[in-house]
Amino acid sequence: MKTQPFQLTTLSQSSLQDYVDCARRFKLRYLDRLSYPAIETEPTLENEKHQQEGEYFHRLVQQHLIGIPAEQIARFANTTNLQRWWENFQNSKDLKNLTGSKKLLGLSPEATLSAPLGKYRLLAKYDLIAVENGKATIYDWKTYRKRPRNEWLSARLQTRVYRALLVNAGAHLNNGKLFEPEQIEMIYWFADFPDDPACFPYTSAQFKRDWDLLVKLSEEITSASSYPLTDDRQKCAFCTYRSYCERGVRAGDIEQAEAEMEAEELFDVNFEQIGEIAF
Ligand code: SF4
Repeated sequence: MKTQPFQLTTLSQSSLQDYVDCARRFKLRYLDRLSYPAIETEPTLENEKHQQEGEYFHRLVQQHLIGIPAEQIARFANTTNLQRWWENFQNSKDLKNLTGSKKLLGLSPEATLSAPLGKYRLLAKYDLIAVENGKATIYDWKTYRKRPRNEWLSARLQTRVYRALLVNAGAHLNNGKLFEPEQIEMIYWFADFPDDPACFPYTSAQFKRDWDLLVKLSEEITSASSYPLTDDRQKCAFCTYRSYCERGVRAGDIEQAEAEMEAEELFDVNFEQIGEIAF
């Protein structure tokens, strides 16, 4: 029996990044809906543990931001990494408005925004949007082992989608009025580099450039009839689909991945994967 192709209705920074990195990966993951046939990096167990701790850390921060006291949260930071990340989070001077006694009122942890994009809906889940005095700051927590370069982060679809979507879909966070791009900033805060966040303010020119790109990508995806394999074979070493593409069997080494940095995206935390923790 012939199966119907999956009808894609939403796009996200992850699916768009996959499309830009490798059209075949986009097809396998989002249209064919293939589950993960191969491990991404070696050593497997250590990387899985790091990823799980990263997910857990996101949940701890989210619970704290919705009102669970820090002392209670600290009890759950029960591994060396979690303990260090949690202490760094609490002591960070850049985050004092989020955690200290003068805590901001306009905090929206784990906010989901969406807006039409061509025939799709563009969807984003934010770690935190903080609004104060007409300024909106997008926070994203990263548990990377190495601090990425700002140029690399700036070009990522996440940086471009998150800011552009907040302009187009954030009116309910701004008394019913759309944010101007100049009111928005995105901050990546690194749990292992707490004093060196990456900050990306926004301008109208950047917003136009980003939204034009997103529209163009959505149109390309709508009309695509072929999904070529990437020419950049380095991407295949860390790709779960490499056996489908006959691009190798052995997983890429984490040390090599860290040297190339972009593979750290593999350890990014996806909210849909995070389970509940009972406090
Ligand atoms: S193995 Fe390479 S070509 Fe195949 S989907 Fe992954 S990145 Fe693309």
